Amino acid sequence: MTTWDLRLASRRDVAQGTVAFRFGKPDGMRFRAGQAIDLVLPAARGEPQARHAFSIASAPYEDHVEVATRMRDSAFKRALGALVPGDKVSGDGPFGSLGLPADPARDVLLVAGGIGVTPFLSILRQASRDGGPRRLCLVYSNRRREEAAYLDELEQLAETVPGFRLVSVMTREPLTRGAGPQGHVNATVLGAARAGLHRPLCLIAGPPAMVSSVRDGLVASGVAEDDVRDEVFFGY
Ligand SMILES: Cc1cc2nc3c(=O)[nH]c(=O)nc-3n(C[C@H](O)[C@H](O)[C@H](O)COP(=O)(O)OP(=O)(O)OC[C@H]3O[C@@H](n4cnc5c(N)ncnc54)[C@H](O)[C@@H]3O)c2cc1C
Repeated sequence: MTTWDLRLASRRDVAQGTVAFRFGKPDGMRFRAGQAIDLVLPAARGEPQARHAFSIASAPYEDHVEVATRMRDSAFKRALGALVPGDKVSGDGPFGSLGLPADPARDVLLVAGGIGVTPFLSILRQASRDGGPRRLCLVYSNRRREEAAYLDELEQLAETVPGFRLVSVMTREPLTRGAGPQGHVNATVLGAARAGLHRPLCLIAGPPAMVSSVRDGLVASGVAEDDVRDEVFFGY
């Protein structure tokens, strides 16, 4: 693993309480869509040096490294939230294998809970540039639309990337809002998402409880264990 100097270029809100941080991409840094990096923040005001893993939300072809997170009141998030453009942090990585299969024609089902969408955004941003025969479906679960990071961009990608379908699931949205299914990602939602995909590789990312229930649901519905990979975002 390599340690990189990352300089903050900009930050922006991508949903209620969720901020994306964009760093300049150092010369020579390469990663695959779906990989993650450890951000290491300098020690500050009585807090020890802090390190957290983040999936890289930007695509490999882009000239920056973007991460996004829910800004909660933890020591790490306080230090992250205090960064201003020009500040430098360290990045250890990239690492992880939550990526697309080597076969460019193999279909893929992506299932994200909340901020678990970040590795899949990188995959979809890259797919929008590369094209190809693969069919992709993203099931994206959030409580409400305003808390769904990058939802506008994903809706755009669903209109412009051939073969990509978005199923946006809101667990606490009033029935009058939004066209997607209500409630949790259950067997019905997963079955509908898999329809039209041929023996897809299934990638899941999000909070521990959501990841294990989606994995169990897929396996119970006949998906082979080897066709399911996941990334657990601890702390949610
Ligand atoms: C590969 C990977 C990619 C990730 N990508 C993202 C991302 O893109 N965006 C994002 O917001 N988060 C991501 N995470 C999660 C992130 O690293 C933090 O854990 C999360 O943001 C919560 O941080 P916090 O400071 O709010 O809470 P913290 O104060 O760090 O954690 C709250 C609680 O979570 C539990 N916890 C934390 N870490 C672990 C652990 N490693 N094992 C078991 N329990 C733990 C502990 O009970 C802790 O008290 C990723 C994690 C991994 C492993």
